Amino acid sequence: MAKIKMTTPIVEMDGDEMTRILWKMIKEDLLEPYIELNTEYYDLGLEHRNETDDQVTIDAANATKKYKVAVKCATITPNAARMKEYDLKEMWRSPNGTIRAILDGTVFRAPIVVKGIEPCVKNWKKPITIARHAYGDVYKNTEMKIPGPGKVELVYTAEDGTETRELVHNYAGPGVAQGMHNLCGSIESFARSCFNYALDTKQDLWFATKDTISKKYTFKDIFQEIFDKDYAEKFKEAGITYFYTLIDDAVARVMKSEGGYIWACKNYDGDVMSDMVSSAFGSLAMMTSVLVSPEGYYEYEAAHGTVQRHYYKHLKGEETSTNSVATIFAWTGALRKRGELDNIPELCAFADKLEKACIKTVENGEMTKDLALITTLDNAKTLNTQDFIKAVRKTLEGLL
Ligand code: NAP
Ligand code: MG
Repeated sequence: MAKIKMTTPIVEMDGDEMTRILWKMIKEDLLEPYIELNTEYYDLGLEHRNETDDQVTIDAANATKKYKVAVKCATITPNAARMKEYDLKEMWRSPNGTIRAILDGTVFRAPIVVKGIEPCVKNWKKPITIARHAYGDVYKNTEMKIPGPGKVELVYTAEDGTETRELVHNYAGPGVAQGMHNLCGSIESFARSCFNYALDTKQDLWFATKDTISKKYTFKDIFQEIFDKDYAEKFKEAGITYFYTLIDDAVARVMKSEGGYIWACKNYDGDVMSDMVSSAFGSLAMMTSVLVSPEGYYEYEAAHGTVQRHYYKHLKGEETSTNSVATIFAWTGALRKRGELDNIPELCAFADKLEKACIKTVENGEMTKDLALITTLDNAKTLNTQDFIKAVRKTLEGLL
């Protein structure tokens, strides 16, 4: 088979620890033999971020604006221990936070569903994708301890100096108070990202908030306006629906559904619900993540971190069994999107086959330890990191 050619680069963001090891293996064993891989490489490994004063992260995000498609390896978010371990000049910000701030996107997380790794919720047959708004609300709040009697008010001072006041509470004794905000522009971006992603993946979109309690601080109306104006027709053509309901009702319906839709959540709801959904689907190592911006920039990654514990074992020369499936799916997501944008059907077909090869390999009973521990298959064989990738390669060869 001749190697598949690419016309536009993918922005490649390399990362840290065990996932950096996986990254190299995936490229060498599963991609480069079949594709003339065209990437613009940015090393987001912590050492290089430190050398460049984190400029490399900003450059990588800007390159994503230029080329529209990026694939990212998991990266270390520095904390006090990492400061020492890597002798850092500064406690650099989370690369994902920096990239998200530049691209202004929504994060979509979806489980990779395979036979033999069964969701805890027995009626879930298809993946449930959580779309989480990643701006404002309680994550950018201002809190106050109220020491004793007195009143708390919300005050809006317009540019001309006029004030609008709302009483929060008249305190008879001590208590607490909290102020939070959001921006119409960010809510609109969130809505557009969700509608676009639903169209892209041909899945229904659900959105839910607590609009019975928060009548103004609800995003419901903005979603509906944008849907009616720009998306109703397109959804009809694609044969998908937009469905709004109260968050309580959504939670109850999700548990009884068979999956196969996108569930858009406000920031806090998405934070909490994505942990519930991902653990109920089986394994963190089988969860994909993509940042979609309203301008149509896509950044693909695995939902898990750098698997530090496995890396230290690897450094000691011990055998590891690290699951590469979500990182492979980050690559296939980016390659498929590149193929769609540049009209290279062979690239899309290759991405489909590589995904199929991962799923088939696991379903045939060859898997890494994390899955072997929870599988319902009784012939499961536990493979080490390298051998699993080799097994995927063998399955792929059979599909090409
Ligand atoms: P982690 O890397 O997700 O790993 C936590 C544990 O989950 C592992 O120790 C392992 O369990 C299991 N696990 C995760 N991915 C796996 C895989 N592919 N195959 C097999 N098992 C897997 O989280 P962490 O250890 O809390 O964080 C490590 C570093 O990652 C931190 O520096 C953090 O800042 C960074 N991080 C980055 C991102 C990102 O770039 N998007 C996201 C999260 C965390 P066992 O040890 O029990 O086998
Ligand atoms: Mg959470």
